[in-house]
Amino acid sequence: MMTRLVTGDDAVDDRVRALLLETLYTQPTSLAIGAINGVVSSAIAAYLSNNIVLTQAAVILTVVAVIRIALGYWIGQRDIAPEDARKWEITYEVGAFSYSIMLGMIAALSIWLDVGGHVQVMTVAVALCYGTGIAARNAGRPAIAIGQLFLSIVPVIAALIANGSLAYIALGITVILLLPAMTSITLNVFATLRKSILEAENSTKLADRMQVLARTDVVTGLANRAGLNHELTEKYLALPHNRKLMLLWIDLDRFKEVNDTLGHSVGDKVLAEVAQRLSTQAPDGATLARFGGDEFIVACELANRADAEHLAGYILDELHRPFRVDGERLELGGSLGVALLPDDGHDIATLMQSADLALYHAKVAGGHQASFFDPSMTRNLVRRKEIEAELRAAIQQDELSIFFQPIVDLETGRIRTFEALVRWFHPEKGELRPDEFIPVAEETGVIITLGNWIAVQAAKACAQWPEDVTVAVNLSPMQIKAPGAALGIQSALREAGLDPARLELEVTESLFLEDNENTAHFIEELSAMGVRFALDDFGTGFSSLGYINKFPFKKIKVDRSFVSGPNIGRKTEAIIRAVAEMGSTLEMDIVAEGLETVEQVQAVRNAGCNLGQGYYFSRAVPDYLAAMLLARERDTQQHKLQAS
Ligand code: C2E
Ligand code: CA
Ligand code: CA
Repeated sequence: MMTRLVTGDDAVDDRVRALLLETLYTQPTSLAIGAINGVVSSAIAAYLSNNIVLTQAAVILTVVAVIRIALGYWIGQRDIAPEDARKWEITYEVGAFSYSIMLGMIAALSIWLDVGGHVQVMTVAVALCYGTGIAARNAGRPAIAIGQLFLSIVPVIAALIANGSLAYIALGITVILLLPAMTSITLNVFATLRKSILEAENSTKLADRMQVLARTDVVTGLANRAGLNHELTEKYLALPHNRKLMLLWIDLDRFKEVNDTLGHSVGDKVLAEVAQRLSTQAPDGATLARFGGDEFIVACELANRADAEHLAGYILDELHRPFRVDGERLELGGSLGVALLPDDGHDIATLMQSADLALYHAKVAGGHQASFFDPSMTRNLVRRKEIEAELRAAIQQDELSIFFQPIVDLETGRIRTFEALVRWFHPEKGELRPDEFIPVAEETGVIITLGNWIAVQAAKACAQWPEDVTVAVNLSPMQIKAPGAALGIQSALREAGLDPARLELEVTESLFLEDNENTAHFIEELSAMGVRFALDDFGTGFSSLGYINKFPFKKIKVDRSFVSGPNIGRKTEAIIRAVAEMGSTLEMDIVAEGLETVEQVQAVRNAGCNLGQGYYFSRAVPDYLAAMLLARERDTQQHKLQAS
């Protein structure tokens, strides 16, 4: 251990050496005091002894001392670069060793030449003091310290012993003992110094490492929120005047589904793969971060908006490429919100807000797209937030109610079903149509609460009607895809005490745009209980017959655009006829929506529809009017029966 410390050839010792080198040069004053001491004492020795050899030695010593002091002060003024450390160390060594040997030699000469007791006492004392003192001062470089110790003292010992007088021999032997003692002290001091330097170094390294960890996302290795803040601030401060800072906020589409159905380990792998793809697309020096589950951020500096559009396009494409994880092929895609600094915000906080808003728009527009920030987004958001807040309050404050529109048997004219249609009587805005607020409810998630409330109200109303009359409730895709969706319907039925067979759920084709397990589950589970499903607005979507086959629909509602409107003609009639034929083969009811005139009623009946709905029969009416319609119908029935 000790030898390794002295030779100190490994990498650690190199760093320690560079640090300790400073201790050699940083106290030029102590160096100067030592030097002046030596110079004065040797000058006095030369003068008192009047000896030519001693005088020459004193001159050499003085020259060496002057050079060393000058160098010491010169280096003290500047920083030593690590690569120069070795050079300065050698310079120091040469000076230190020369000076030490000269001091030792002068003391030895004064004994050897027998120049007189008081001169000998002075020179020997100076050499011994210097040799032992330096061992402490230069412990930072033990090789130098020990070298100096030996060079200044060994000549004295040799001269003392060679002198032959008993007192000098005794002194020589005592001085010999100084050598191992001082060597050991020097090495101990050095070991302590080295240890504390390494410890300080390690704790700095540890602190650095902790900081890196605190700013890193463990799943992807990208920056986390803290890391992002740090890097964004740096990018912001370093942004040249003619450049823009692009902030691209990514939200993965369908990630939650992957996580829920395939588990978190697959989810984590997808996230890691996304990180990988982003880093190949992002320009050098870009900041990549992940936070909040499936959200990522790419921030980079670029020249103009066109570059930003290109980059967003590449990233969008990358996210649409299927992922392969654990043998599964997953198609996710992503929504992107983009904002640029200074165009869309003059500071990081505003830039983030703008990108977030743009992302929100990309998602609301259906996902799988990039949206660039636009000031109108702020206004829309404010409006939507208003409606959202009002809508939540409206449910509490009974501003909403359910109206019922009859669906009539075209053969008998009897009401078979009432479709529940929600109405909002806004204290200031008046009556609001569902088309105005249902989309907001869907975007904001309020639809879940609202939908459950509607289901309960509709089921309660139906429970009051004759048993052969059913109720139809419209469901938004989002309601069905939400976890636990079936539970909402089941508890509505329970709360109203309604037979599930009297509930019909109207869904639209858009529900099947994505192949979703929750959807299939929902339909299967409720069908098994006896709840019936109707396919609403048929003909407005892509009207694939695939899911009519796949799911147990009992009813198809042909959209009112086939019944009224500018496109009506032989072609639409043929389509209604074909759908009606399919309906009778598959034993499904076919409803024609939007019937307003007697001609329309006759036309759809001739085409084969068995049910009809529209203003011709009745508008949507409050529950008490619906009950009255039913009562009147039963009354006329009664009269007819009695009359016949
Ligand atoms: P929808 O399911 O197709 O409902 C039929 C819409 O057509 C109703 O509009 C109804 O008032 C209207 N209508 C009925 N007969 C006629 C007619 O002869 N001529 C014309 N021009 N229109 C007729 P409403 O009540 O404004 O509902 C609009 C849409 O809002 C509904 O279309 C449905 O998709 C949605 N909606 C309504 N209530 C709810 C609800 O409780 N939950 C959900 N999720 N959506 C609802
Ligand atoms: Ca409907
Ligand atoms: Ca409809």
